[in-house]
Amino acid sequence: MHTWRKGIASWKCGETLYISVPFTWLMSEAEKLANAHKGKVLIGGPGTMKPTECPGFEPLLFHNPSATFTSRGCPNGCQFCAVPKLEGEFREISDFRPAPIICDNNFTAASRKHQERVVDKLKVFPVVDFNQGLESGRFTPELADLLGNLKCKVRFAFDHVNFESKVKAAIDLCRQRTTKDIGIYVLIGFNDTPEDARYRLELVRSWGIDPNPMRFQSLDAIKKNDYVSPNWSDVELKRMMEYYSNLRFFRPIPYKDYEYREDDRKQIALF
Ligand code: SF4
Repeated sequence: MHTWRKGIASWKCGETLYISVPFTWLMSEAEKLANAHKGKVLIGGPGTMKPTECPGFEPLLFHNPSATFTSRGCPNGCQFCAVPKLEGEFREISDFRPAPIICDNNFTAASRKHQERVVDKLKVFPVVDFNQGLESGRFTPELADLLGNLKCKVRFAFDHVNFESKVKAAIDLCRQRTTKDIGIYVLIGFNDTPEDARYRLELVRSWGIDPNPMRFQSLDAIKKNDYVSPNWSDVELKRMMEYYSNLRFFRPIPYKDYEYREDDRKQIALF
């Protein structure tokens, strides 16, 4: 599958420059690009924190042509998430562009009719990646069986300790009826403590899955990793992110013995 373009995507059509900004902290870079351009400029994407339309273009194609949306938005309103502010009402895209990486904000919220239509169109791909977190509470046996018609990778989110039983039930169901290729996003640094975050991360490991820790970013962050929750220190956040994002290197070292060093980052970047 194609890899993701990192950072801003920009392209020209005639004299117009289009700039798609995935994160708020890239807005100053986007503005520099815009100021350097002589003609008309259209800036969009999640980094603007505004719903944007891009008539005639699908910006996602410039970030990864193998990725697509079959629905937009999410009916939930999680405090830490930009989706409800950016995407508005949940809606299905009946004529979506079939592609093997599904970026829907909440595919589990779609109607059964839409889910069946999507699975039917995705059967042509050897592997399908449900790239965003599926909602464990909406992962029913019927949906597990439907997705089991595809060879796929799925991901769930484990954002709060209260969801432990739901997440575990979804993993069990998924392993029995859908796929064993499962990823778990674990939000850290938002209304939790280091102990709570470690509890969830270690629990995921005990379920036989390497967790994917996600550091909370404030919704209007000018700089990445700027926000430090009152229960945390910046070093503890960096340490936990580094360790659990790189278990393939650090697995033999217990977390209590792991010392965070900037040098480790450079070593890991070489691989
Ligand atoms: S369920 Fe996921 S996409 Fe929906 S609001 Fe919560 S975090 Fe965002």
